[in-house]
Amino acid sequence: MIELTERVNGLIYQLKIFMPMEPGYVFSYVVRRDNECVMIDAGYPNTELLNPLINELSKIPNCRLSSLFITHMHIDHTGLANELRNRLGLSVVMHRRDYEQVLKMLDKDLFIKEFLELSGHYGVPNTEMELYKNVVSGLSSRRRLSALNPDVLIDNEENRIGGLHVLLTPGHSPGHISIVLDEYGLAFTGDLILPTITTHVGLTPPINPGNPLRDYLNSLIKIRNMSLNCLYPGHEGEICNVNDRINELIRHRVSRLCEVLNALSNGELTIFEITNRLKWMDNKRYVDLNPMNRYMALTETAALVKYLESMGIVKAGNDHKYGITREISCNVRELIPQLG
Ligand SMILES: [Zn+2]
Repeated sequence: MIELTERVNGLIYQLKIFMPMEPGYVFSYVVRRDNECVMIDAGYPNTELLNPLINELSKIPNCRLSSLFITHMHIDHTGLANELRNRLGLSVVMHRRDYEQVLKMLDKDLFIKEFLELSGHYGVPNTEMELYKNVVSGLSSRRRLSALNPDVLIDNEENRIGGLHVLLTPGHSPGHISIVLDEYGLAFTGDLILPTITTHVGLTPPINPGNPLRDYLNSLIKIRNMSLNCLYPGHEGEICNVNDRINELIRHRVSRLCEVLNALSNGELTIFEITNRLKWMDNKRYVDLNPMNRYMALTETAALVKYLESMGIVKAGNDHKYGITREISCNVRELIPQLG
């Protein structure tokens, strides 16, 4: 259920923690700083895993755990945070922007109401509303299971906390952080960059508002500019071809933006209609996805459209249908000008 592996000679330890959702496991890490150890992320909220996890932690030699950093608010990264805080006296550290979203999700009725209003704007038909209501209600209930009680809320974009370099890297969530060990060229990047999975970037006000795809691309560029040696992500495993992987992820988003523009080239569409015209995981159509993946597809399309809208490339009418307002050629230079 939990596997402990030493990663970088006594500097980094990886804990592989089982979870009953895709992709089947999540990583937490322990990193040694001077005479103390810091934990990064807290697994899935399954209290049966708490004792085995504490047992594995006790096997790390000469390591007094003092704090727990949460890369982002999602359930598979915050899971046992409160239990670890209470049992081991850890100080829980996370970004204020993510904690604010957690609090919003805990207000289930408001969360459902706001999401359903939004679905109307996305053009979701009434026949699908019950499905979305169930998904959003489930997200809020899971959140209730793992109440969070942070001791330190980070406010800034860049911080030095306990010898760690902490960067705000939003996109997957609004307060997602990455933790960089500058002297080794290593970083813990949560779900920002994964080896083969492309991270979900969804526009889901009330919990991921603004322009998350722009934030995500800027976060990728921020990490790329640091020319790091290796990353320790939340799933799948170590990444040591960091900038190649980042370039691949940037190209992937560009091709998705182009697919949206392609769908719109034959006339105006709502976000729901665009979602139905794109292909999703394993090349599936929207109607073949399960409810959770439909939610992810819809909100991901919304993020793509929002990004294009912010660039003045598409615009919505009063009927919530989007149309192309400025013809562009579909390439990285046009779509991500901040790359230079
Ligand atoms: Zn995750």
